[in-house]
Amino acid sequence: MDTGRTALVTGGSRGIGRAVAVRLARAGYAVGFCSRSADEAALETVRLVGETGAAVHHVVCDVTDLEAVRRFVGESEEKLGPPDAVVNCAGVLRDRPMALMGPQDWRQVVGTSLDGTYHVCRAVLRGMLTRRSGAIVNVSSVIGVYGHAGQTNYAAAKAGMNGLTRALAKEVAPYGVRVNAVAPGFIDTDMLDGMADKARTAALATIAMGRFGTAGSVAELVAFLLSDAADYITGQVVQIDGGIAL
Ligand code: NAP
Repeated sequence: MDTGRTALVTGGSRGIGRAVAVRLARAGYAVGFCSRSADEAALETVRLVGETGAAVHHVVCDVTDLEAVRRFVGESEEKLGPPDAVVNCAGVLRDRPMALMGPQDWRQVVGTSLDGTYHVCRAVLRGMLTRRSGAIVNVSSVIGVYGHAGQTNYAAAKAGMNGLTRALAKEVAPYGVRVNAVAPGFIDTDMLDGMADKARTAALATIAMGRFGTAGSVAELVAFLLSDAADYITGQVVQIDGGIAL
């Protein structure tokens, strides 16, 4: 089912970004996505999106770099058409207590999630405002709402994304553009690979549903928020966390 719509996804090579790319392809979007690496994971997303029959284009792009983001957006637009939907999903962890946190750990995390979201929004918004349509979903985290010891960089970046989402939604609503965020709890992806057993058990104890979530569940929520079914929803940060109490 080709709807003639195009979606851009950052961090689409793995985890939640890949699930979003495939879900949007199934919904009839042509999909442009980026990741830092041109690795097996990126090729696998290309294959999975291609399998749905959707057009797909991968660009190597570090979202911390505005010029690289402009190239990602420009190249995707040339191949697939202007973006109707945009998902800011690229993110990294560099956990450390603040007293030991070096500037690189701070910059990498804030640069990827928060600066990256600004860069992508900056690159796509003029077109969306001119066309008077578009929808953006920023992939934040419950950590940006509740905070978490050892994650000041990540909490600041994600809380920043939540604020950006609310402010930008107000700014662009008169032009027919919607902006929302999803704030996942613990989702089973590569990002949690480094989690020690003790931390995993402690995390599970905070979740009412007693399990981590799947990337597919997050992708369903993202697809809904981008769809016309959500045409009266903007400026929201929607938690998807199995009933978490941090
Ligand atoms: P993941 O499996 O580690 O995948 C991260 C993706 O982001 C990869 O495609 C990676 O590509 C890309 N990426 C990282 N830095 C990038 C950069 N500077 N420029 C472009 N791409 C970059 O992570 P995930 O669990 O799917 O997380 C996706 C998003 O959900 C993140 O924003 C994360 O903060 C958020 N989130 C995750 C969880 C969770 O429990 N998993 C919970 C809440 C929120 P490369 O490998 O090529 O760098």
